[in-house]
Amino acid sequence: MDDPRDRAEQLAARRREVLAQLREVEQELAALRRTREGVADDDEHDPDGVPLSAQWSRLEGLRLARAEALTGIDEAAQRLAEGTDGRCESCGGPIAPARLAARPEATTCIDCAR
Ligand SMILES: [Zn+2]
Repeated sequence: MDDPRDRAEQLAARRREVLAQLREVEQELAALRRTREGVADDDEHDPDGVPLSAQWSRLEGLRLARAEALTGIDEAAQRLAEGTDGRCESCGGPIAPARLAARPEATTCIDCAR
């Protein structure tokens, strides 16, 4: 936190990581979509239909969580550019550097997050 360049690097690294995870889950969703279409073509009452949709919900949930994380990282980068980064949006206090290192997109201090 003392050095904004470190923070920017941290955010950039986190962004790459989350973006890779997002692409991964999107690929899984695409594969699942193809499988599901194949199943529907063969037999509408396929017994595998339920597990497939459960898998779909799980992946869709993952995709949303990662897309949100990405938005959070972009917002953190924006705050960094504006010089308001590292402040808890709830109490206005500083967010501990260790917390930001573990979760660069954090917007609240550890006390407010509880
Ligand atoms: Zn706080």
